[in-house]
Amino acid sequence: MTLRRYDLLVVGLGAMGSAVTYHATRQGLSVLGVDQYEPPHDLGSTTAETRITRLAVGEGPQYLPFVERSHEIWRELEAESGAQILHECGGIIITDQQPVPGQRWEDFVTETARIAERGGIEYELLDPASVRHAHPWVNVPDNRNAGFERTAGLVMADRAVEVQLELAQQHGATIQTGERVETIEPHDGFVRVRTDAGEYEATNVVVSTGPWFSELVAPEHGEQVTVTRQVVYWFEAEDLDAFTTSAIPFVMWIAQRDEDYIGLFPMPPGGTPAVKILGEQFLETTDARSVDREVSQQEIDTFFDVHVAPKFSGVTRNCVRSAVCLYTNTTDDHFLIDTDPRSENIIVMSPCSGHGFKHSTALGEAVAERIATGTSTYDLAPFRSRHQDR
Ligand SMILES: Cc1cc2nc3c(=O)[nH]c(=O)nc-3n(C[C@H](O)[C@H](O)[C@H](O)COP(=O)(O)OP(=O)(O)OC[C@H]3O[C@@H](n4cnc5c(N)ncnc54)[C@H](O)[C@@H]3O)c2cc1C
Repeated sequence: MTLRRYDLLVVGLGAMGSAVTYHATRQGLSVLGVDQYEPPHDLGSTTAETRITRLAVGEGPQYLPFVERSHEIWRELEAESGAQILHECGGIIITDQQPVPGQRWEDFVTETARIAERGGIEYELLDPASVRHAHPWVNVPDNRNAGFERTAGLVMADRAVEVQLELAQQHGATIQTGERVETIEPHDGFVRVRTDAGEYEATNVVVSTGPWFSELVAPEHGEQVTVTRQVVYWFEAEDLDAFTTSAIPFVMWIAQRDEDYIGLFPMPPGGTPAVKILGEQFLETTDARSVDREVSQQEIDTFFDVHVAPKFSGVTRNCVRSAVCLYTNTTDDHFLIDTDPRSENIIVMSPCSGHGFKHSTALGEAVAERIATGTSTYDLAPFRSRHQDR
């Protein structure tokens, strides 16, 4: 039997895969998207309702064009779908005045201010007293640096995935969920993909499998990533109206130890009625199939006592919801977007080191453009593999 040959087969339909699928159909390609679950789901990296977005991306200037374009695309998606995806509530970043060399994002406020200046983005350096004055619920001591971006905000992550997949289907994409890809084999001029339900052929394949990344890619790509378990908590507020996206900005509070990072997300319209707060840890690695997805009461209590109570007022210790989410980090905490060593027709694009969502739809557009036309308006070179043989 002759198999239908798609222009593009996308494996994994989370943040990255749903974006490539949507943009590739807009480029006129025939696209098949396959996912082992029913995205958006809560087993990978795109879960827990919201993600922080900042135009002034202290992670580096290479990201600036992507986040700027993503904000434009989300507004386009909102106009096309009627859904609200981006809430520009503003964002505060707090860091130590004495950053530790080698820290994950050293001197992040200064770096963010530098990127803002370079990109013409409005950015305000704040002294801690003015943060406390404007936001009495932030217990920031005097010996900290702080900055505020008005155009920063929250993206409705699950909703963005859903909308991109719905619109992709309306534009002609085929989406198959509950189907797991088992092998990807390059042949002369095409790629064969075997799943637990069948076999497909495509001219190009994108592997955007998030924390499952290492399972399907070449070892030289797979060995560059580490998966870690992160926990997200929703704590009841004393006065929930004071913690909504229309009332307050998000707060990213970076400390001397990576493990003392804490992020506070205001409640968006229709969100879980509580204050979302998360930390970060890189000490214990895991994998997406064996990770512990339970969050114990002891874990909740420790997180609240050690991280939440000293930093934020107005948040109670009553945790109404928690979720486990997975980071897929590269060795230098940047992105890995490249071709598979076996074939130029296979593109890998998932490990985004815990800061990928804000760039995802523009990355999807850039990859789709490259597949459709052989080139992209945006520079993907900074994300190429750092493997020594490349
Ligand atoms: C707690 C947390 C907080 C974060 N905060 C932010 C933030 O504030 N701002 C920001 O910009 N970024 C943030 N990030 C990072 C961002 O969420 C991720 O970079 C992004 O969601 C990664 O999406 P993905 O598509 O690579 O992976 P996923 O969304 O996990 O998608 C991968 C998909 O591949 C599918 N799949 C895997 N293997 C197979 C297979 N064999 N066959 C078929 N399907 C398969 C999975 O089912 C899944 O649907 C955060 C991440 C976490 C975990």
